[in-house]
Order: sequence, then structure tokens, then C-alpha cells
Amino acid sequence: MRTQISNDLQEGCHEGRLQTRFPPEPNGYLHIGHAKSICLNFGLAQEFGGVCNLRFDDTNPAKEDQEYVESIKEDVRWLGFDWDEREYFASDYFEQLYALAVRLIEMGDAFVCDLSPEEIRQTRGTLSTPGQDSPFRNRSIDENLDLFARMRTGEFAAGTKVLRARIDMASPNLNMRDPVLYRVLHVSHHRTGENWKVYPMYDFAHPLSDALEGVTHSLCTLEFEDHRPLYDWLVEKVFPLGKRPRQYEFARLDMTQTVMSKRKLRDLVENNLVDGWDDPRMPTLSGLRRRGYSAAAIRAFCERIGVARANSVVEMGFLEHCAREELNMSAKRVMAVLEPLKLVITNYPEGNHETLAAENNPEDPLAGTREIVFGRELYIEQSDFMEDPPKKFFRLKPGGEVRLKHAYIIRCDHVVKDEQGGVTEVHCTYDPDSKSGGATSGRKVKGTLHWVAGDYALPAEFRLFEPLYLADPDQTLEGQSTYAGINPHSLTRLYGWVEESLREAKVTDRFQFLRQGYFCLDSKEKEPGLVFNRLVGLRDSYKGH
Ligand code: ATP
Ligand code: MG
Repeated sequence: MRTQISNDLQEGCHEGRLQTRFPPEPNGYLHIGHAKSICLNFGLAQEFGGVCNLRFDDTNPAKEDQEYVESIKEDVRWLGFDWDEREYFASDYFEQLYALAVRLIEMGDAFVCDLSPEEIRQTRGTLSTPGQDSPFRNRSIDENLDLFARMRTGEFAAGTKVLRARIDMASPNLNMRDPVLYRVLHVSHHRTGENWKVYPMYDFAHPLSDALEGVTHSLCTLEFEDHRPLYDWLVEKVFPLGKRPRQYEFARLDMTQTVMSKRKLRDLVENNLVDGWDDPRMPTLSGLRRRGYSAAAIRAFCERIGVARANSVVEMGFLEHCAREELNMSAKRVMAVLEPLKLVITNYPEGNHETLAAENNPEDPLAGTREIVFGRELYIEQSDFMEDPPKKFFRLKPGGEVRLKHAYIIRCDHVVKDEQGGVTEVHCTYDPDSKSGGATSGRKVKGTLHWVAGDYALPAEFRLFEPLYLADPDQTLEGQSTYAGINPHSLTRLYGWVEESLREAKVTDRFQFLRQGYFCLDSKEKEPGLVFNRLVGLRDSYKGH
């Protein structure tokens, strides 16, 4: 794509000008696939000194809404791109597009057809057989003009008349077999209200909107490759002398273990399978943002997957890998206990506390240290203690020793159990001479556990996520239902404790909870109290290409 554009500019096409556009249909929230298209369109414009328009392709009023327009703008801005004043709507061109359709009729290149949608489909032919001409194909220009005008004023019911291009029913390209350009729809539009009773088809509105805006390079996904001849036919017919935009295709982005299309994502939202479009499990930009992804991580991901022409499915693990790379450098290391077990240090004086220094980020020498409180009663993870462990268990067990991170070595002496035999407390003694970083800290033990101080820790909720789908769902729109293969365990909520320093946590902060992964505060949660989303775990499942 870069080479192509760079060649075009050198050869002086469009006087060396580059103008792209990002053309979302406002019928849902943007997803990571759109991010690829945004980074490409805005990124190329930046790189080659051109401009990129934001154009809402709002030609399908039944599914579109102002809410989606607003969310799309927010997401593009959040990703770090700016369209200045170049915010356009295909609906702003409805009058011009209508006039261009009239011109096509006048040139004998379009006609009003009374076949039903079903009849049009049946007479279209197949890849191996030609289609049949519509019986209405040879209507006079005057009759066509009259009927089209009456379609506009709402005289005809939806489905009873369409405007079709008059190209070639025997074309080997099905898109050239007299494609539909306008249909009657008695539907209110979110911007033009009741003004219109005819709406242009995507294949008509898109190329002509590109031409009206002076777009030079119209980048779209590969499914539209077969539509390119129609794209070219239309701009050549309607703008025979003008500078014509050209369409270039690139591979769409699909990802493992999620659906991507807005229609399928909307199914999940409307059926309450997720907590809205910005549910942290969704591949939407608002969901990824709420999950804790930075715009920079998503841009890096889009840069690294490239824009090859071959379709491919990218592992979710690669997106996580891109996030981890950034977080490893920048996230503050803190301690949180997700599934708490009480630990009492019996030789630590009751009522006493001390503060210890904890390193904020070993990857960043400038990150400094903070103070954490140590005392007699602590919490550790339930999974860090086993009464009857297998051989290679290096965490805490009866009679065993571990180091508490940033603190002392402890030995487990005794456990307290409830009536069912479940362990409710572990009682330990600490070695006062084993302080981390202290002069006599040379003693080594195999395990190091994270912990928080019982009296000082803050209660918190933790939300852990798994992929929405267990296997890779069918990405096609016609294919299986949105429910097939959905992961019933994609959300786990745990209630535990975080260290006191997180009292000051901000929504924009990213933390590494030691041994648990990267977390951030949930930006939507209005309840008082701390709710943390796990962005990604610590272990990188991505094996590289
Ligand atoms: P969806 O099926 O999710 O609704 P769409 O293509 O219908 O996708 P649009 O709003 O029309 O959604 O897309 C706006 C732009 O984003 C188009 O130029 C389209 O090519 C691009 N785009 C959409 N999905 C992807 C994807 N998965 N990968 C790359 N680009 C995409
Ligand atoms: Mg669409």
C-alpha cells in the first residue's frame, strides 16, 4: 500500500496530492478491525503529508443512530487521530447524489425497475450463467425520470420499485449486472428525518461521495475488490472530466476467539450477554479502553500486523503481547491479594506496625520506591498455601519457609481450621534478621509470596476476563448464531484486598499486581469502592510468528 501510494505521488497522480477517508457506518461501536483501517487511512495521510476525512456512511437509516456517531468520534480521537473540520456525512450529499442519479437516467445509464427484490435475485444469473434483462430495462428516459421523482416523494411502497444501473446482465462480474442504486424506504433518518423516501445503496453512495470530497485513494477491505469495476464505472460516468478517486483493497483484520462484525457485537449487547458495547471483553475500542488498553498499544498492534493483501486471523494473544510490552516498562508494581487467606505472625508484637520500602518498578530506575506497612496480621493468596502439597511446591506449607516480598522470611508453624476442615488461618513466625535488602538478608528461600497488611489494606473487587468464545466463532454474517461456542466463564469476579497506596489510584493508572497481572480501575463503575479490571495476565501466551 505504501509503495503504491508513494509511486502514485511520484508519478504526479492527483498533482501529488493524497486524500483518504475513514467511512464508518454509524450502526454500532468501532472495533479493533476498524482501528486497522483508521491507522491506515489517517496514518498514510500523516506520512505523505495528505489529509484524511471522517465520513459517516449513513445510507441505511433503519440501523443507524446518533449515539453511534458520537461514540465513533470519541474512539477515533482517543486513538490519536484528528479530522479537523473534515467531518462529513453521506446524508449531506443526498441532494447531490439524487441529482447524479437523475443524470445517469438522462444518459440512459439507469432505469426504474418494478421487479421485487426476490425477482431481481432470481434473474441475476450465476457465476456460470448470465442474468436476464429486466422487462423494465427499456423504459423511456421520460418515464424513468417521472417514476424516480415519484419514488422520491413517497408514492410507492418499499420493495415495489428500485433504480438500477443499466450496465450488462451478462457481465462475468455479478456486481455489474444492472446493480440496484436506490431503493424506496419509508424510514426516518437520524439526520434527514422524513425528508427522503429513497435512499442510495452503498455501492452508489460510496464512490460518488469519494469523488465529491476529492478523495484520491479509497482504501477498503478485500470483499470490495469485485465491486471496483462498478466503482470505476460510476465515477467515470458521472465525473467524466474530473479527477477520479481510485479504490485500493487491503486485508480485513479478524481475531481469534471473538466475533468482530458490528452486527454480531450488537447481538451480544442487545441480548445482555455482555455489559454494553464497552464491556471489557468486547473487541470494541471502547471495550478495550475500559479493559485498560492504551491507544499507543493498539496503534503499535496495527502497525505490526501490517496491511498485507492476504486475509488472516490474528491471535488475541498478539494484541495482549503488544499491551504487555508497554506495561512492563511503565506499570507500577504493587501488591493485591485476590483470594485472601489470613496469616498471623505470632512472634510479631500485637499492635505494632512498621513501614518497609518497596520498589515501584525494577524495569524503570527512575520509578523509585514507596512505603508499605507490615504488621502481625496479613493476607496471602489461598493458592499460596497448601497443607498437603505435592513435591515441587515452593510456596507456603506446614513447617516450610518462604519470603514475603519486600519483607521477611516466615515459617509456617500451625493452621487453624473451621468445622468443615477448611483452613481459615495460617500461623507463622518471622525471622527479624531476614529483612529484604537488610545487612543480614543473605539467607535464601525458594518461594516469595505477595501479601497485604490486614489492618491497612483496602477492600477491592477484581474482574478477570477470558475470551468471549472458547473456539474461533464463525465470522461470517450468514453463519451460525452469535451464541454458538460462547464462553460461559468469560468473567470472574473476586473480592480481596489491595495495598494502601492504591487509595490514590486514578482511572488512568496501570498497575502490575505482583504475580497476578496488569490491572486498572474500571472507568465505568459508579459504586463506591475499588473495582479493578485485569487487562492481561503476566504470562505471555504469544509465541511469535
Ligand atoms: P462491520 O461488519 O463490523 O459492521 P463494516 O465494514 O460494515 O464492518 P463500516 O462501518 O462500514 O463497517 O467500516 C468502516 C471502515 O472500516 C471500512 O472502510 C471498512 O473497510 C473498515 N473495516 C471494517 N471492519 C474491518 C476489519 N475487520 N478490518 C479492517 N478494516 C475494517
Ligand atoms: Mg457494515
